[in-house]
Amino acid sequence: MTVAISNLQETVTVDERLASLVTMAVESALAGGAGPRVEVSVALVDDDYIHDLNRRFRGQDRPTDVLAFPMGEEEPGAGDEPGVLLLGDVVISLPAAVRQAAEYGHGFAWEVARLAVHGTFHLLGYDHERDEDARRMQEREDAVLAALSDTELAERAGAALQNAYAPYSGFRVGAALLVPGGRVFTGCNVENASYGLAVCAERAAVVSAVAAGVREFTALAVAVEGEKTALPCGACLQVLSEFAPGLRLILADGRGEFTVRTLSELLPEAFRLHRTDA
Ligand SMILES: [Zn+2]
Repeated sequence: MTVAISNLQETVTVDERLASLVTMAVESALAGGAGPRVEVSVALVDDDYIHDLNRRFRGQDRPTDVLAFPMGEEEPGAGDEPGVLLLGDVVISLPAAVRQAAEYGHGFAWEVARLAVHGTFHLLGYDHERDEDARRMQEREDAVLAALSDTELAERAGAALQNAYAPYSGFRVGAALLVPGGRVFTGCNVENASYGLAVCAERAAVVSAVAAGVREFTALAVAVEGEKTALPCGACLQVLSEFAPGLRLILADGRGEFTVRTLSELLPEAFRLHRTDA
């Protein structure tokens, strides 16, 4: 499937990470609901642009956050691959995404991805006019976004791995810690000539989050190279358990594939300090 993104506004820069997250969002929403030879076009616009479309095509004289225009026709354009189904256009207002990200307390890129998923489900025929339909659509969206969040976090851990300092073991590790509100803190392992002083990627990410004043964690991705995933060491499990005993753990290999575990499953009984003078 193909996702074509065009940036038709000038207020927000669309970097590679945002583009790749939007592509992943549309592809995840399409998976299972459309054939492989499908194209979706995503236009990123401003308030005026989407206001105009909303007025002309839906009779609503105000800006909105996302619009979807299904096509359902064979794309006849010259030079296009025959048999590619152009599913339609998703139009997203980036200024609306900026406002809603602040309102919902998550990241801007995440809000754009959420809108892209919503628009893509409209292209697939879902709508939310009736309560029952709205519930069905919301359920599908939530499932896609949960999987997308894990994939995105695993990728962030893989990117953090690139900074690992592991000249002694050669075992490079990256970690990405998602906290409520959507911020992500990353870490990598940092070794030392005095071997015992090595710091793991997971604890580096925890220290970074706590230093920023954050002590609640939602999920942690740990990425390694090669074809096998790795579990956090016992010391890291203990440190993570201090803040989030039920933490969701995403264990990724070097190919970007991952399994999901929970901290309480790996460390059911962590050490807790019971002071004798209390
Ligand atoms: Zn560790």
